[in-house]
Parts: sequence; C-alpha cells; structure tokens
Amino acid sequence: MLVKKNFYINGEWVKPFSTNEIEIINPATEKVCTVISLGSKKDIDNAVSAAKEAFKTWAFVSKEEKIDLLERLYTLYKKRWDDFANAITLEMGAPKEFASKLQVGAGAAHIKTFIKYLKDFKFDRPVNDQLQNQKIIYEPKGICALITPWNWPMNQVCLKVIPALASGCTMVLKPSEIAPLSSMILAEIIHEVKFPKGVFNLVNGDGPTTGEALTSHPDIDMISFTGSTRAGALISQNAAKDFKRISLELGGKGANIIFKDAKPDAIEKGASRCFKNSGQSCNAPTRMLVEKSIYNEAIEKIRKYTNELKVGDPNKDGNHIGPVVSNQQFEKVQKLIKKGIDEGARLVAGGTGKPEGLDKGYYVKPTAFADVNNKMEIARTEIFGPVLSIIPFETEEEAIEITNDTNYGLANYIQTQDKEKANRVARRLRSGMVDINGTGIAADSPFGGYKHSGIGREAGKEGLIEFLEVKAVGGM
Ligand code: NAD
Repeated sequence: MLVKKNFYINGEWVKPFSTNEIEIINPATEKVCTVISLGSKKDIDNAVSAAKEAFKTWAFVSKEEKIDLLERLYTLYKKRWDDFANAITLEMGAPKEFASKLQVGAGAAHIKTFIKYLKDFKFDRPVNDQLQNQKIIYEPKGICALITPWNWPMNQVCLKVIPALASGCTMVLKPSEIAPLSSMILAEIIHEVKFPKGVFNLVNGDGPTTGEALTSHPDIDMISFTGSTRAGALISQNAAKDFKRISLELGGKGANIIFKDAKPDAIEKGASRCFKNSGQSCNAPTRMLVEKSIYNEAIEKIRKYTNELKVGDPNKDGNHIGPVVSNQQFEKVQKLIKKGIDEGARLVAGGTGKPEGLDKGYYVKPTAFADVNNKMEIARTEIFGPVLSIIPFETEEEAIEITNDTNYGLANYIQTQDKEKANRVARRLRSGMVDINGTGIAADSPFGGYKHSGIGREAGKEGLIEFLEVKAVGGM
C-alpha cells in the first residue's frame, strides 16, 4: 500500500529528508483521514535535480513514444476511476456522483484531448510557403514547477502534467496540501506506465515552504500555477528574478447576464452553476445580473431554488451539494455572508450558520442576496462558497459595464435568445471565456483569464503550446 508520507522522486517513492507532517481532514466529518509530509527545500532540490537529469533525454524522445506512454496512462486513469472519485470525495468533499462524473471526468477529458492535439501538432514547420528553409521549431520549455489547488484536483493536475509530458518537459508537481490524495494516485499510474525516471516527480507540501522553494529554484524554467490571485502575485515575483516562464490560472468573479428574453429556466440554471461544487469554482457565475423588467420574478425563482437545494453527506447518492473544503474556508464564507447582510444586501435565502441537522462537517447554507450593488464587498471578493449576488440592470450597456467592473476576468455568461445581442455582448466582455445560454466551454477550448484572473491558457492546443518555446532556424 502507498505510504502517504513519502514523495515520488526519480521513479520511486522516497522518505522526506526531515519529518514535518500535516493531517488531511475529511471536510464532511472533520475527522483526520490520513497524514502527509510537507517537503523541505532539500526534498525540492532532490526532485528538481531528478527532473533536470531526466530532461536531457525526455526532451528528445519521439512523439510516437510519448503518445504510446500517454495512451497507456489514459487506460490506467480510466481503470482507477473509482479510486480517484473516492479520493476526491474524501479530500475535498465533492459528492460522489459529482466527483466521479465531473471531477474525474474532467481529468479524463483533458488526457484524451491532449493526446489528440499531440498527434496533430507539428513541432517543426516552415515559416511560410515561400520560406521553406526557414523553420519554426517548437521545443519543451524545460523543467517545470506545477502547483495546483484543491477545488478541482484532477482537472487542474491533468491540465498541467499531461501537456508538460506531451511537450517533452520534465516536472515537479506540488499538489494542494489540502487535497493531495488524488495526485498521489496519478503518480502511482505514471510509475506503472513506466515513464522514464525523473520525468515526473511529486513533492507534497505547503505554499510558504515547499511552494516557495520550488518557485524560487534556479533550475526551474517554467512555473504553471493554479490558485489564488494572492499566491499568483508572490510566485510572479519569484519568477521575475530569473525570467522563468509563468502560466497563472487565478481567481474569478464571473457575471451571468440574464436578459428579459432569456430561456425560462436560465435563472435556476444560473443559480445551479453558481452553487455547483459548493461554489468552489474559479469560473462560477457568482454575480447574477438581471434585467429590471424580470427582476422580481427572478428573485422569487432564486428564493425557491436556493431554499430547495439540498446540502448533505458527499458519500450519499443524489444531486445535493457537499461541504466546503475546510474550516478556514467555512469561516471565510461565514464572514462574507455576514458582510453582505451588514452592507445592506437583501438576504433572499440561506444566511450564516450551518444547515439544519448538519452540525459536524463544513456545511454552508446555500445563500442568495438581492439588491446587491457592484461596489459591495460580496460583489467584488471571490467568496468561494455557495453564495449568489443578484444585481439589477436596465440597459445592455449597463450590464456590460457592471460585468467588466471587477479586477477579475475569467468567465462570464450571457442568457438571451437574441443571437446577435449575445454575440455583440460577448465581444465586449473582458474575460478569457464567455458562455452563451449555458452551452459550456469545451475541454478543447483554451481556459484562462484576463486581468487578475491570470496569464496564459490551459487545455487543448493552446494548453500544449504553453509548455513550448519557439525557435527560429534559418537555412535548415
Ligand atoms: P492557494 O493559492 O492558497 O493555493 C494553491 C496552491 O498554491 C496550493 O498548492 C498551495 O500550497 C500553493 N501556494 C500557496 N502559496 C504559495 C506560495 N507563496 N508559493 C508557492 N505556492 C503556493 O489557493 P487555494 O485556496 O488552494 O485554491 C483556491 C483558489 O484557486 C481560488 O482563488 C480559485 O479561484 C483559484 N482557482 C483558479 C482556477 C483557474 O483556472 N483560474 C482554477 C481553480 C482554482
């Protein structure tokens, strides 16, 4: 059985250099489910040096060989589907059906998509038809630090590890110290597939020690980070010192513009999208902008939907939402709900405290506020809990202005049956993604944000290119 206190370095599970451990807490029960080690600077040095050695050969392994290994990885990922789903339910409280279909499913979709783009990708091409001996060559960026959060563990890890492997990079993954278990299963699979030793390394740990040691390591060429805007800024400073390439996927405060000609179920679907994963998604539509003429009707629909939304044990079947991930997250969400009440927003459903009958576990009442003004803190801060803010608007121009009046720019949403209006508004929104009428953003589409939501794109072809340097060679 896997010893959770060990790290995966240079093709084997190794003991940390020193003992520094933390308990992993099951958010549904508040009980300890396992203990992991936090890596020190020495553990990071060891892992980076393995990745550096491996890069000398992995960078030049043929595309065919990489495809073969990735296809085997995909097969084993699917074989361990239930193990991944159980680990995700345990570590971050996602209800089992949601964990299996969406959380594990997202990772699988990314592996499949990256294999497809790797097959099609031309790593070597002429600059144009007239300059056949002037070549553009795409090469791996080098030794990568991959740092991920806890809210969509396998989605985020696969968005980094798979394109890094596909492009010929080598890597050290530091998953979230709150939800590391699913990543350790992925490490087991990578071992079973027999990727060359040192290509993939995993060191568990926290941000200030392990993350800091990794992102400031002089041999790291690229940092791909998903997490808070706060940590993203600190990491960028480390990267700037020696010009490491960075890719940052940070926070969001998405708007969902509901025009009066939206489909009848757009309001409930918008609320559902906000509360999904207990509101812990960077691309959640947490500000619902509703056209004045349907505003009161919308509030009543939200009141009914939110009051009826079930919260409960993630190990039970059903489409309820689970707890938030930790006590710290629970306290943060409570504070912001209280702030919303204090700053004068109208509480439509939910509120502070735990839902009835759920005294153990970090359960939050799904909460909706109406009459929110975009200057209020609940409209500006990423709450990362099941909290929806409803904001009225009168004109298309006003809706665009409110949507863009935020530091974030990750995902926005538009609901209207007027195609021309939808396309017109989509072009005006300052965000990396715009979803029209709940169609969704495909696994092939680039994922990422404008402004404080990050730098760079993940997923699909753009996600592969993110791990590649471009070289121009004349006379080849
Ligand atoms: P976090 O920033 O606290 O932690 C994320 C990861 O970074 C963890 O592995 C953590 O150990 C590490 N870390 C923290 N401080 C660090 C430092 N100084 N140096 C190096 N590493 C450090 O974020 P979180 O609470 O785990 O995740 C929630 C955040 O992630 C939210 O803000 C959310 O919006 C964001 N997120 C963004 C996306 C996206 O694609 N844009 C996706 C999911 C989550």
